[in-house]
Amino acid sequence: MSDIKKGGISVDTEHIFPIIKKWLYSEKDIFLREIVSNASDAITKLRRLASLGIREDMGEDYRVTVTLDKEAGTLTVSDNGIGMTEEELNKYICSIALSGAVDFIQKYEKEDGEGSGKNGIIGHFGLGFYSAFMVSDSVEVITKSYTDAPAVHWVCSESGEYEISSSNKTAHGTSVIMHVSENEAEFLERSRIRAILEKYCSFMPVDIYFEDVNEEKKEDAKEEPINDTCPLWQKQPSECRDEDYTDFYRKVFNDFKEPLFHIHINADYPLNFKGILYFPKFANEYETIEGQVKLYYNQVYVADNIKEVIPEYLLMLKGVLDCPELPLNVSRSYLQTNTYVSKISAHIVKKVADKLNSLCLNDRDRYAKIWSGISPFIEYACIKDRKFYDRVKGSLLLTLCDGSAQTYEEYLKDAKESHENKIYYATDKALQAQYISMFEAQNIKVVLFEKPIDTQFSSIVEQYMPDVKFLRVDADVADSLKADGEISESETLKVIFNEILGNKVTLKFDALKDQSVPAILNVSEESRRMEELMRMYGMDGGAYPVESTLVLNTASPLVKKLEDTAQSEPEKAKEMASYLYKLSLLSQKKFSAEEMQDFMKNSFELMMKL
Ligand code: ADP
Repeated sequence: MSDIKKGGISVDTEHIFPIIKKWLYSEKDIFLREIVSNASDAITKLRRLASLGIREDMGEDYRVTVTLDKEAGTLTVSDNGIGMTEEELNKYICSIALSGAVDFIQKYEKEDGEGSGKNGIIGHFGLGFYSAFMVSDSVEVITKSYTDAPAVHWVCSESGEYEISSSNKTAHGTSVIMHVSENEAEFLERSRIRAILEKYCSFMPVDIYFEDVNEEKKEDAKEEPINDTCPLWQKQPSECRDEDYTDFYRKVFNDFKEPLFHIHINADYPLNFKGILYFPKFANEYETIEGQVKLYYNQVYVADNIKEVIPEYLLMLKGVLDCPELPLNVSRSYLQTNTYVSKISAHIVKKVADKLNSLCLNDRDRYAKIWSGISPFIEYACIKDRKFYDRVKGSLLLTLCDGSAQTYEEYLKDAKESHENKIYYATDKALQAQYISMFEAQNIKVVLFEKPIDTQFSSIVEQYMPDVKFLRVDADVADSLKADGEISESETLKVIFNEILGNKVTLKFDALKDQSVPAILNVSEESRRMEELMRMYGMDGGAYPVESTLVLNTASPLVKKLEDTAQSEPEKAKEMASYLYKLSLLSQKKFSAEEMQDFMKNSFELMMKL
């Protein structure tokens, strides 16, 4: 009976080793995470025995040591944890792990490529230890259980054949000695090993030391663990100060700018996950928005930016998430169908929304100050996720041209009397200054869209709030800008202007409250947006000409003068009208080089006549 079992395992072993080498090729550095986290687990287990009173606490200095010996060609991971008896070694290392993996491999062997379970094989099926063979010709384990059982020495070759003998190790714990293969020599480089340890082990819960036996040490060199065993996210938010969050952010993300704010998530039952998310600050608008959300499993680093755990639109944030209920190595397809994962994701969205709402409600001044920094993230998130929008809509701000900010509700409330449900905006404060000042003179607040996403977001808001309409300041003459009383349309001016405007621009007469402005050019919001859209997609905007209207202000003394001149000196009136049209164009858009030259020439000629 036992013979049959033995034979079975050896066949499977032959089967597994080449597959371990082949499948895990692209992520070889994971082996060190696996071996170090086994060592850390072994210590955690021993500590637990002490805390349960099963074993006396000897006040030991628990530690994992990673030792590099380039000359000997070995990388060794030692711990003073629970250790293994010979029986346990047989059970955990020699048999069970393999048989679980055999089922897995038989199931997935035929599939290849993405989602074939490449990530799922190690750890998930108790194969973590065997990842050592990705980089080693042979692996030795010297282990002594914390019980009285004698120490054992296990040596296993690349082909999976092993020998067990006794060892004279007296202290409890385990050493895993990896004889690194010749063609994996990079794993004998100090900087490479240090970088791998930093990547995966920076927050493991047991002190980890790194030693290079061939490195000359300075006498007074202080021995320091490479990791922080109690990362900030594991603490209660009430125990952490603002500086702690900033320091942690700087250390983890190497970003020396202060983040705009953070969210500390500490979800217990039933979700059980922790994390800190930061809204980063960007130096300028040209900096690429690239976030980084690091995923951990019980303080062991797993991967960056897993969009199943946090919605893609929040991956622009920076942060850490520790999800102890996810297996260390999981495949994408597993994540996609896992309800724990989707609940985590929903919880994160809710926490982000709650934080924004509370900032807006309780710390409005600071919130308004950071708004321009965070608005691109938030507007993008709202575009991507209607539910997120619904959660935060009360806390979305509109930045006004005067520098202040209002919520949508506040803006629309103020607008009720004079321009109900209309939100006026400017996209260029300098270019549209004339229009902005006309609106502001009548106490109409103008919103400033500075970032490309603002315009995109406004059309989404129009979908979410169908009554609300966004209008650029040059789109129409707001009713409250108009003066009461009759408008006298001058037939002579009509003739003169229609000749200048041709059929491209419509002429309109209106009496405006602001008498200092003789004429303004309006371009219809719809046709302008259409044209912008066409240009964005690289198509010829000319196919959809922008509908423009020249509004002559009959309340303006200059228009009156023009009317008089038209009677007495029609030629001069034509020149004046043409110049007036050019001025109205100039205040609406940027001139092209030719237009500017023509305008300058025209101006000089006029000066000659003065
Ligand atoms: P997993 O860690 O996913 O269970 P591994 O193949 O990495 O799978 O390890 C199998 C088992 O071997 C572990 O569960 C543990 O019982 C035992 N083991 C591995 N490394 C150590 C160690 N350093 N000390 C004590 N036991 C260990």
